[in-house]
Amino acid sequence: MDVVEIVPSRPARASRPRPARHLADLGCADRRAAVAELGQPAYRADQLSRHYFGRLTESADEMTDLPASSRGELISALLPLLLSATRELTCDRGMTRKTLWRAADGSFVESVLMRYPGRVTMCVSSQAGCGMACPFCATGQAGLTRNLSTAEIVAQVFHGARGLARGEIAGGPGRISNVVFMGMGEPLANYTSVLAAVRRLSDPVPDGFGISQRAITISTVGLVPALRRLAAEGLSTRLAVSLHAPDDELRDSLVPVNRRWKVAEVLDAAWGYAAATGRRVSIEYAMIRDINDQAWRAEALARLLAGRLAHVNLIPLNPTPGSKWTASEPEVAATFQRCLADRGIPVTVRDTRGREIDGACGQLAAVARDPAAGRDPAAGRDPAAGRDPAA
Ligand code: SAH
Repeated sequence: MDVVEIVPSRPARASRPRPARHLADLGCADRRAAVAELGQPAYRADQLSRHYFGRLTESADEMTDLPASSRGELISALLPLLLSATRELTCDRGMTRKTLWRAADGSFVESVLMRYPGRVTMCVSSQAGCGMACPFCATGQAGLTRNLSTAEIVAQVFHGARGLARGEIAGGPGRISNVVFMGMGEPLANYTSVLAAVRRLSDPVPDGFGISQRAITISTVGLVPALRRLAAEGLSTRLAVSLHAPDDELRDSLVPVNRRWKVAEVLDAAWGYAAATGRRVSIEYAMIRDINDQAWRAEALARLLAGRLAHVNLIPLNPTPGSKWTASEPEVAATFQRCLADRGIPVTVRDTRGREIDGACGQLAAVARDPAAGRDPAAGRDPAAGRDPAA
């Protein structure tokens, strides 16, 4: 594993109450209006957008089609630095890169880039912290700091896309093909910013990065009203539901929001999403030893999913520092998987990319906030756990 400490070239401003406005927060018309407010021709908004979303640059020196005299003003008005990369860690032979970001108000968030044969997935955060309080998740234990702005979400993808284009990631220059909202935060609790971010990611250049909506996954604990609203947006994004238990009794404790919206309601909303989009829903299930990995729970899960447009993604639990829980025994996980497969439920096991760099679920930010919260991420985790089973 390599660790790179980064000194930001433009230091983020301290104590800003809200993230500054950025062109990625704005649709096309609003960008033009913002440029016109500066007394500059509106078409400069398109030029600036092309630099950001197409050429992947924020540097005045590279914007040679803009008059040198107005570059500084345009950049400070529409491309303010929102997130500073304070630490980067790579593993999996340079194919996985995790970035710890510090926002202008001092909040920390994380993003992870994972390169696989034929695709590159960017895992992004939608909130600093999370209010959902799932007890097995490092982010959940820290509580919610605030929602990220649209541009703060987009900035994480910008950084990955630029790094890939510049050949900073092992495997040569490339493009981001997939984005998953599986970093810190509950995306549907930050609905408006996340929706606008999906549009920015998927709109073609110069309005956005032109990433296919079908390759963008929104992962949720199951906030039912927001899920129903999402189904009516006319998007083709993929949906992942973090179920983790088929029964309300256990799910009430693993995913506390289940006390408000029960398994049946969450799944009903998920099937509504599948019907509206024609897309198979991914059911996320963290395998926690002796907690949710019993064969009878696999059978109960299979009954819930039978005949539905769904597949199950089993995630070996990545234990958080100090947690009493650990991942299921491999044989137990294999039995659980077989039990689903035998009942005709499509099931996969998620790979464990980035574990040695605290790749999952807010662990790096937890350490940044409070070094006592865990071991120094630079010290690494169990190296064997970071292996890519596909390799
Ligand atoms: N709030 C969203 C997205 C966040 S995390 C959601 O809950 O879906 C993405 C996935 O990682 C979720 O399925 C979450 O439950 C899971 N996760 C969180 N902590 C984990 C851990 N320690 N080990 C394995 N999976 C974890």
